[in-house]
Amino acid sequence: MVEVSDVQFGYDGREVFSGLNLRIPRGKVTVVMGPSGCGKSTLLSFIGGRLRPGKGSVRFDGDEVPYGAGERLYAMRRNMGMLFQSSALLTDLTVFENVAFPLREQTDLPESLIRILVLMKLELVGLRGARELLPSSLSGGMARRVALARAIVLDPAMIMYDEPFVGLDPISMGVIVKLIRELNDALGLTSIVVTHDVREGCSIADYVYLLGNGQVIGHGPPEEVMQSEQPETRQFMQGLPDGPVGYHYPAEDYLADLRGPG
Ligand code: ADP
Ligand code: MG
Repeated sequence: MVEVSDVQFGYDGREVFSGLNLRIPRGKVTVVMGPSGCGKSTLLSFIGGRLRPGKGSVRFDGDEVPYGAGERLYAMRRNMGMLFQSSALLTDLTVFENVAFPLREQTDLPESLIRILVLMKLELVGLRGARELLPSSLSGGMARRVALARAIVLDPAMIMYDEPFVGLDPISMGVIVKLIRELNDALGLTSIVVTHDVREGCSIADYVYLLGNGQVIGHGPPEEVMQSEQPETRQFMQGLPDGPVGYHYPAEDYLADLRGPG
């Protein structure tokens, strides 16, 4: 469904990817893991056409992602749902209106049909009864489920989740884990989950990509990646502070820095 080939990219000259290659298979839940700052959100921005890679190519469903605003990009995005970490609900609108929003913006469907589509999606995430609530009265877990209903309301072929487990209590986290899997399988979606959370990530993944040092440092079914003897992969999966993956932001020589200028 998605093919990322030889992508090189940096922000203001600071390299994030030095040659990234990965393939997201259709119909599966693919989890992209790696430490904070390794470029997971940046990768989703390439796929969603919000950011253009410096070099290399990104394909969605066989076609090169068309960067820069335009009809082709919008058409492609209608096939990609996106769940941001912040949930990003519109605070003045009810749950119902938040989920209806993409339908009102992007279709000319009659009100009676919008109502049915919204209620079906809310039922899927267990919040049909909460339709008249405002976002301010939702718990973090409920807000994320509303955002999820909104992300799938246009029936996209693929959905991308950016850190869907962050900041949730264990029960809400379990609900989200279960929903990601159920929606993927029931709706025949392709799912990409980006997370630094090894345990939750492995629990829903059909396939795992591990990012580090600007590249893919390991990939495979979760059981395989968890048992990998490869040093970079082991360091991340076991949460070890010391190892081949550095935690220092690039800096000038330490002693020279302490000595100061002159
Ligand atoms: P992740 O999602 O894996 O935590 P990101 O993709 O957000 O990582 O960021 C990758 C790296 O690029 C980080 O070092 C981050 O500080 C940097 N970065 C992200 N966005 C910007 C930006 N808009 N401008 C400059 N640097 C950025
Ligand atoms: Mg991120």
